[in-house]
Amino acid sequence: MRRAPLVDVVVGPQNYHRLPALLDEAGRGARVVDTEFAPDSKFDAIPAAERETIRRRGVSAFVTVQEGCDKFCTFCVVPYTRGAEMSRPVEAIVAEVARLARAGVCEITLIGQNVNAYHGEAPEGGIWSLGRLLARVAQVDGIERVRYTTSHPRDVDEDLIAAHRDVPQLMPYLHLPVQSGSDRVLAAMNRRHTRREYVRIIERIHRARPDIAFSSDFIVGFPGETEADFRQTLSLVDEVDYAGAFSFKYSARPGTPAATMADQVPEPMKNERLARLQAAIHRNQTAFNARFLGTEIDVLLDKPGRRAGQLVGRSPYLQPVHVMLPESRIGDIVRVSVTEIGRRIPSQDLRRQEIEHCPG
Ligand code: SF4
Repeated sequence: MRRAPLVDVVVGPQNYHRLPALLDEAGRGARVVDTEFAPDSKFDAIPAAERETIRRRGVSAFVTVQEGCDKFCTFCVVPYTRGAEMSRPVEAIVAEVARLARAGVCEITLIGQNVNAYHGEAPEGGIWSLGRLLARVAQVDGIERVRYTTSHPRDVDEDLIAAHRDVPQLMPYLHLPVQSGSDRVLAAMNRRHTRREYVRIIERIHRARPDIAFSSDFIVGFPGETEADFRQTLSLVDEVDYAGAFSFKYSARPGTPAATMADQVPEPMKNERLARLQAAIHRNQTAFNARFLGTEIDVLLDKPGRRAGQLVGRSPYLQPVHVMLPESRIGDIVRVSVTEIGRRIPSQDLRRQEIEHCPG
């Protein structure tokens, strides 16, 4: 407010349900700042979307189940801006999913800044993990596909791995950010796991669901990252064989520990590493997509395509798939023969949906 005198209201992400009252206050001439973490849940105050609004948004919907983060990665502002981890009760989530399903939604993505830290109050008392919640949500009438994002490797537990084995509606595509392949950098980032531990988690999930594919986030040029550290990241990309990934140059967030670390990496070096990393990711992704040529995959048709008579849908791996079918088929899951592979990157499409997520 000091820097921008024109601003009347500053409201934090946990308090936007109070916006009408805050605007009233501002209307009376006050300059209003409300960035505390409110003890009441905004989810109880926000009205449910109307059936028509849900329909307009399409057959796939996001449902927030968790907010905040207790991990304190040294590059990230989320723990400071979103506060401590909180989870919505199971019943409220199931009711929301059922309402969405009645309006025609058949794919649900459970979201949270650190979604697999979910620990929500269960209907009969006690606390449920994300794995149990996923199994319950998948039972809602009309829900055919379930996903979740974004996860921290340390919060992958037995329940979650069991869900990948036992819940057929849980799609075999998991975004599990690692950030770096170097143990030295992982420690400096306060990720609290090693490369080997991460790879073991990947292996366990893979054993539970052999057709699963993974994507990740990577940061290049974290303070102190050497060429040897960076090569560890490149080798991890090949070891895990990611189907897609987001990659970023490190940029300092004021107030985070990494912002004041020594050995900040020069910008040209970050650019060079990012280009090499993206080439490696692209190579893996192209090879992953090429495996589908000549096969059949299930596609959830979700919107009209650019050409007349064309629809676009999603494969289980979030690859956009173009099919010649009438608009009346939107919302159907159809078996499609793949005759041609384009160059589109599936994980970029996930980001385009502007989900609010853990940056790592
Ligand atoms: S990167 Fe993710 S896990 Fe780490 S502090 Fe940020 S939100 Fe939490």
